[in-house]
Amino acid sequence: MQKHVDYIIVGGGISGCVLSYTLMKYGASVVVFDLPKNNKCSTVAAGLWNPVVLKRMKKVWQADDMMKELHTVYPDMERWTASQFFDPIAIRRVFHNAGEQNTWMELCDSPAFSSYLEGTISPLPEGVVGEFESGQMKGTGRLNVLSFMESVHGALRKEDSFREEQFDWNAVVRDAEGVDYQDLRAHAVISCQGAQMALGETGLPQQGFAPVKGEVIRVKLDAPLEKECIHQKHFMLSEGNNEVTVGATYAWEGFSDGPTQQKKKELEEHVSKVWNGSTHTLDHKSGVRPATKDRRPMVGPHTLAHTWIFGGMGSRAVLMAPYLAKVLVEHFMYGTDLLEECLPTRFS
Ligand SMILES: Cc1cc2nc3c(=O)[nH]c(=O)nc-3n(C[C@H](O)[C@H](O)[C@H](O)COP(=O)(O)OP(=O)(O)OC[C@H]3O[C@@H](n4cnc5c(N)ncnc54)[C@H](O)[C@@H]3O)c2cc1C
Repeated sequence: MQKHVDYIIVGGGISGCVLSYTLMKYGASVVVFDLPKNNKCSTVAAGLWNPVVLKRMKKVWQADDMMKELHTVYPDMERWTASQFFDPIAIRRVFHNAGEQNTWMELCDSPAFSSYLEGTISPLPEGVVGEFESGQMKGTGRLNVLSFMESVHGALRKEDSFREEQFDWNAVVRDAEGVDYQDLRAHAVISCQGAQMALGETGLPQQGFAPVKGEVIRVKLDAPLEKECIHQKHFMLSEGNNEVTVGATYAWEGFSDGPTQQKKKELEEHVSKVWNGSTHTLDHKSGVRPATKDRRPMVGPHTLAHTWIFGGMGSRAVLMAPYLAKVLVEHFMYGTDLLEECLPTRFS
């Protein structure tokens, strides 16, 4: 018997999870197809969110709207799933020179930044090595991505809305009103295929992606580090139990090579410079960020009928997904405008 749903979602990474929840919140029904074991990105993400590009001390595009939505959506999703994964924690920027310290203090006085930067300069925590002091961010934190995805998949399963299987784009039948797929009839199908889409592996071709490989290591320190994330070139995120996640690296090739010795060495050398003690590497992982050529996400209609894309969030899906999901879902529900700069057709 045919089952009617409003939307079929392909992909249950950060993007697919946030979009499914948002559609359901606005009253739409969904069925999500995902193969968690094939995930190449969300499973590796540290899950940090931060509205400021720390290297350049610039605000992220649409940062204020994104921060507002993020602080509503993830706590709501915790209530929906009866789980915990939203963890506000400070991110500490270690200054590399006196000029950076001055810039920080100037930005603290500007209305655009004052809600995100603490107005005091503070010493580095015990054990952390650096020539200069540091500033702390406000409103930042980390999403425990593995527990987030597991909880959302579980909640969707309970509503018979999650299918752990490969979605086959060649089996989609489109007509004037919508799509048929297996036993499902839907208004539309939305690709949230993240890394696989960026790598052109999905069977739904889309121009404009420029995937970026990233690696992280998990390290045991010889002493505890306060619960925070320290940023000085790479981040060092406290995980409790004297363990930290350190990353992430960037590479534009070698997507199928997995974790590499070269990047492991780069990260281990970083730890040995910034930690005043002995360390031991416990784990090493790699993933592929679904970035685009112009570094804007990809949210809008595909050229095929009743087919949409929600992705291209590069290294910031945790921050971007809640706001972009609202934009897309309000477009479906109320016909409000999509964001021009995110339309997939900009690459056609
Ligand atoms: C090392 C590293 C560190 C990072 N750290 C952060 C961070 O701290 N903060 C942050 O915000 N971002 C971070 N990122 C980026 C973040 O991981 C991505 O932006 C995010 O994971 C993208 O999520 P997604 O859901 O769009 O895609 P994905 O996570 O790639 O999910 C896509 C899903 O779709 C499934 N899928 C694809 N095709 C099919 C199909 N045909 N049928 C069924 N299922 C299918 C896949 O199996 C997968 O589960 C990091 C990335 C890396 C590599």
